[in-house]
Amino acid sequence: SFSSCNPKVCIVGSGPAGFYTAQHLIKVHCVVDIFERLPIPFGLVRFGVAPDHPEVKNVINTFTQTAKHPRCNFYGHVNVGKDVSIEELRQAYHAVVLSYGAEGNRRMGVPGEDLTGVYSAKDFVGWYNGLPSCQELSPDLSCETAVILGQGNVALDVARVLLSPIDILKSTDITQPALEALAKSQVQRVLIVGRRGPMQVACTIKELREMVNLPGTRPEMVAADFDGVTAALKDLPRPRKRLTELMLKAALENPGEKEQERRNKASRIWGLRFFRSPIEVLADPNHSRTAGIRLAVNRLEGSGEGACAVLTGEVEDVTCGLVISSIGYKSLPIDPLVPFEPRKAIVPNTMGRVHQATGLYCSGWLKTGPTGVIATTMNNSFDTARSLVEDMNSGNLDVSSAKPGSQIVSALLEKRGVKPVTFSDWEKIDNVEMRRGEAKGKPREKILTVDEMLQVARA
Ligand code: FAD
Repeated sequence: SFSSCNPKVCIVGSGPAGFYTAQHLIKVHCVVDIFERLPIPFGLVRFGVAPDHPEVKNVINTFTQTAKHPRCNFYGHVNVGKDVSIEELRQAYHAVVLSYGAEGNRRMGVPGEDLTGVYSAKDFVGWYNGLPSCQELSPDLSCETAVILGQGNVALDVARVLLSPIDILKSTDITQPALEALAKSQVQRVLIVGRRGPMQVACTIKELREMVNLPGTRPEMVAADFDGVTAALKDLPRPRKRLTELMLKAALENPGEKEQERRNKASRIWGLRFFRSPIEVLADPNHSRTAGIRLAVNRLEGSGEGACAVLTGEVEDVTCGLVISSIGYKSLPIDPLVPFEPRKAIVPNTMGRVHQATGLYCSGWLKTGPTGVIATTMNNSFDTARSLVEDMNSGNLDVSSAKPGSQIVSALLEKRGVKPVTFSDWEKIDNVEMRRGEAKGKPREKILTVDEMLQVARA
């Protein structure tokens, strides 16, 4: 056991933000307890990152090292805000870091949004990645055309998963039910729709290149969408320039012989569509399911990243049986006593210090809003940890008296009938999943229900 003078810090959420914050705090001799709502760790690394991006998931190795550090403890299956309050955690620890991510999603706010055949990207991704709360989704993939609203990396992940040859997917950790549904999918054409123009897309070049190279598919764009883009290229900052060049190549250039041959053989189509915003999801004659989407035609005012989409008054209907809105994740408040900024959907903070709440910090998507990649989350989490350490050193955060930490929280949880899952419990789940995967040539076969996770953990 450690002397009472080790500062005790509690972290809420075990995604990248939670683990990177913990990693930094352990180095400065803090005792770190991580509380996670699900029985298993790693947040969106497991439930967000696409199954065909296994290399991205290697961060799990670093997180595992952190979790196994003698001064770090993992308490899974503890829903903070329900099983234990933030106030109780603040009493028990010198500091509390909120890193519970962005589990809500932005709605389009248009009529027809609740029709069968309309899904949020968050739920769709959760479905194919095995998030227990999304397993009922069973999306209907019997239509020919799918429309994805939004042009960020998540939109491209969804498009790629919808169009990937099943042989590629079957050796990933995609769930068995998703694999079966995708094997039977009738979707031949995916349109990825954005409000603004080609020079405003929010995806990165890696994801766009994966679409361009996706076996069995060919691009189909509208040449007029690219008017003036070639001329504007020279003034673009470098990453944006390379991204735009790649898009132009897919959209306008005559392919070489080999590429032409590849495209001729392709049976599936993807396309970016620009200057369009959803105004209504259209129902079939029985008003039971999605039959199309009505889009407003926009024009751009201004240029560059700050350009605004302005309605022209024109509309366009697109026939489709599947609509997936990928217009952003959104953090939710989990405790009425914690300040929350509803417009930006973040916890108001300065460098990770939550406003008007001494000893309370935040990191990750809850701190910045749901943008950026894992590396971005890492940097902003290290920043938060540095703020915390600064406050300990300056005396702004009082660590002079001992705090009970997990001792009292464990007692509270036991009294409430909550039995946390430990990190070695998770390793049992991990092993079972990998063993089940091995039999099928997959890295793992994910367990899909909380009940079964708990069963395996406690076996
Ligand atoms: P999260 O990863 O969401 O972690 C939050 C954790 O808090 C979760 O484990 C959640 O269960 C837990 N939690 C929530 N509520 C509570 C509660 N009340 N009590 C206790 N615990 C709670 N980045 C890349 O670099 N490469 C990629 O390929 C990539 N693909 C992505 C694909 C998708 C679909 C998405 C959405 C994101 C992707 N990202 C990718 C971005 C990356 O996932 C994020 O940058 C990162 O996960 C944000 O970390 P976080 O810890 O803030 O949130």
